[in-house]
Order: sequence, then C-alpha cells, then structure tokens
Amino acid sequence: QAEDGIRDAQESRGLGDVYKRQLLTSCTNNEKKSNEVNLYSQRHYTVDKLQYENFTKLTGIKVNVIKANADELIERLKNEGKNSPADLFITVDAGKLQKAAELDLLQKVSNSTIENNILDDLKDKNGFWVPITYRARVLVYSNERVSESELSTYEDLVNEKWKNKILVRSSSNAYNQALMSSLVANLGYDKTIDWSEGLVENFARDPKGSDRDQVKAIAAGQGDIAIVNSYYIGLLLSSENEEELNAGKSVSVFFPNQGDGQRGSHINVSGIGLTKNSPNKANAIKLIEYLTGDVAQNTYVQNSYEYAANPNIKPSEIVQSWGTFKRDSLDLNMLGKFRGEAIRIFDKTGWK
Ligand code: FE
Repeated sequence: QAEDGIRDAQESRGLGDVYKRQLLTSCTNNEKKSNEVNLYSQRHYTVDKLQYENFTKLTGIKVNVIKANADELIERLKNEGKNSPADLFITVDAGKLQKAAELDLLQKVSNSTIENNILDDLKDKNGFWVPITYRARVLVYSNERVSESELSTYEDLVNEKWKNKILVRSSSNAYNQALMSSLVANLGYDKTIDWSEGLVENFARDPKGSDRDQVKAIAAGQGDIAIVNSYYIGLLLSSENEEELNAGKSVSVFFPNQGDGQRGSHINVSGIGLTKNSPNKANAIKLIEYLTGDVAQNTYVQNSYEYAANPNIKPSEIVQSWGTFKRDSLDLNMLGKFRGEAIRIFDKTGWK
C-alpha cells in the first residue's frame, strides 16, 4: 500500500511541476511564493484525503502527498538534503518524529495558533513536532470468553492464565515498537525483556496480520485478548463489511494500567514536523494550523476514530462509549530514544 502511494505521487508529478521546481531553485531567497505544500506521510487513513481537499478548497493551496513508512521517508529526506521538496513529515509515531529531529531533518515550529490548538501534555518539549491526533494501544477481549474483571495491566498479560490466548501483530510494526519502547522507558530493560518473554509464551499463534486481523481472530475463536490501536475498533464497528462489523462486536475495549498509582495506558500521537529545508514554509504552517483547528480535528475523530489533539473536540460517539482513560504521561520522545533497545528485546525473546 505504501509503495502504491509513492508510485501514485511520482506519476502525478507532471512536466508542470518540473518546470516549477526549476523556477524555485533559481530563486535565491527563502520566500519562494508557491501555491502548494508537499507532504511525506506515514499515515494510511482515508480521512486524510478529505482533510487535504477541504484545506485546498479553503486556501487554494494544493497538497501533494507521498506515502511510505517512516524509515523510508526519513531516508528520503536525508538523501534529498537541501533539495528536498518536502515541507512536512507526518508520522503515526512520535518516536519517528524524534528520530527525524535528532537527524537534523526538522525545524522548530513556533506559532501561537498551533500552540493554542493542542493539549499541553501531548506537545513536543523541544518544539520540533506538533501532535495532530492521539491513539491508545489498548487491550480488546472476547465478550464470550473473558470478563473485564480478569484484566488489569500490560504487565499482567504474562500471567499463565493467558497461555495460548494473546493475539498481537509482528514486532516489525511501529505500534508494537512504540509500546515496547514505552515499557523499556517505564520499567527498564531487564523487566521488559522478562515481560516480552512471558508474553511470547502466551501467544495464541505466531504474530501475523494487521491490528484488525487480531480482532477477527478473536471473533474466530483463535485467541481471547488482542493488543490493538483503539481507533481500529471504531473502524470495525462502523464498517459496512459484515465480517469486520461482527469482529468489532465480538470484543470489548479495555484500557490497561488505570489503577491508583499506575501509569496509564500507552498512547502515541500522529504528528507533523516541519522539514529543515521546507520550500513552502508559510503554506506548511497554514496546513498545520488547519489540521489542529476545530473543524479538521472533528473530521479526524468522526472518520478515523482517533482522539483529537485539540481539547475542544470530543471523541466520536463510538469512542466515547468506551469511557475516559488515564494516559501514560511518558515524554513521547522516549518512544524514539528507546527504540533500539525495544528492537533488541523483540529479537532476543523471539517475538517474530
Ligand atoms: Fe494505523
């Protein structure tokens, strides 16, 4: 899917754009006047197209998107250097934004509209990226075979009562890497390696498929508990596909680590960084202002079932029905800092 995104973007770049780029590179100052903005995006949700179309209608600024996974986009930004056409780097993981900032690929954004639009505790303390939405990596459990009172924390998933019951996708997935990074940051390396070992022991099957596939596997009786991103349950419950709808209905959402003194459920943001060499900086800032504003934030929650980074906007009705929850307050940059250790733990404990 990501590769299709790149191909589409390349094919849609016609002669007109090549001409425009030549004009731009002949410009010496940074105030290049253009009517477009270029995104490198890891996001893979249909709502995004709608957001960019709405922005174009409002401003006349054309939004060009190249989609790929975050590491591929970071490589591309590195290789292109000063000649990169990218204005904004969008990810579904604060860890990759932290990595891009560390590689000197981003510049700070300081803008009072954007500042005022978003929740303080989701902000990057270093000012290099802006959250647009957030999501929790929750537990979902079989309505038939598990009762809510049996669940408590991520740590408790290693309990032997869950032997052959746990479903989760592969360790190559960014969401799992971020979750493991959060455990390393919170518990330390040694405790986390023990946790991973215990969890792998309890797997219902070798990791495969997407988050949605884990829920379908619960519906099919292949396991009882899955670790998934919250919005996928909203997407399943609003799906027109019967198999997806039934999968969504077969489970309930559980927010782990909510008890007194516990740290809260692991969350991650989908966020935006302004690239170091952004050729259309003014347009890029305008797009961030738009995406963090009330209208676009409401469009996100109603279509992708994510949580808004803007405190004015309530979750969708489906998401509200799961109740509120305490978020892990870990500095989200730690999801990047501990990524290497997280990957080592996956390898050492045989989480495929
Ligand atoms: Fe996703």
